[in-house]
Order: sequence, then structure tokens, then C-alpha cells
Amino acid sequence: VSTPEPGQAKRPLPVVTPRSHAFWHGGADGHLHIGQCQQCGFYSHPPLPYCPRCHADGVTAVPVSGVGSVYSFTIERYTWLPDLPAPYVVAEVELVEQDGLRLLTTIVDCNPDDVTIGMRVAVSFIRQSDVFFPVFRPLHRDGQS
Ligand SMILES: [Zn+2]
Repeated sequence: VSTPEPGQAKRPLPVVTPRSHAFWHGGADGHLHIGQCQQCGFYSHPPLPYCPRCHADGVTAVPVSGVGSVYSFTIERYTWLPDLPAPYVVAEVELVEQDGLRLLTTIVDCNPDDVTIGMRVAVSFIRQSDVFFPVFRPLHRDGQS
């Protein structure tokens, strides 16, 4: 977990609901938390009140590996927010837990021009206020991030 230094990127804080609480605050224990159906085991994100596969309502946020791959990405080259200087990468990362389980995030600790589709990444957290933003950094072949 890192905290932005003065002059570093600051992200607009999300509106945290009871349903998304574990996603935004779960990083406090170093783990990414994703909703999982307690009936059939299906993961879903963003958090839903019921399982999109079996329609059971027992969806609970559980810790996942935090490992995935870049499914798609774009390099933002314009500074839209003064505290979030360009260039930066907006990426859809697919988690290893399940095909199609993707979340919108950013890739850090990497030159934006070095990001590629399929690149292996691992979660990391940037703390702002009491929110832990899940971001991803390249995972090297030896398994160390
Ligand atoms: Zn289910």
C-alpha cells in the first residue's frame, strides 16, 4: 500500500455504498475483494445484490488472488484532472479467478508505452483518505511483482 506524495496523482474518491464497501476498503488487509455467489461460486463485478448466473441472493465479497492480465487498455494523454497528470493507462484487467471477470483500473510502475494486451499484472493499492484504490503493476515471469 502506498500513499500519494504531494504532487503525485490523486484520484477522485468513489461514492462508497454498502455493496461496494469491501471493494474500496478491502485493500486495508492487502487483498482485492470481489463478490462471489455463495450458492454456485460465480464471481461478479461490479457488486450486484444477486448472482447473475444462478440468481441466488447470497453474494459475499471474498479475497481473491489479485493476479490477472490486461484485457484492453487505452493511454490517456490529456490531463483531465489537475491532480491526475497524463499520460496514464486506463485498463480493463481480467482476473485469473474466472473468464470475463474484469475490472476497470490503472496500470502503475510501468511506462504506459510498455503496456500490452495479455500482460500479466498483480494488484497493488493506493490509499487516499480511507479508500484503497486497486491498481495493477506488471507481474514478471518469476512471479514477483
Ligand atoms: Zn450463483
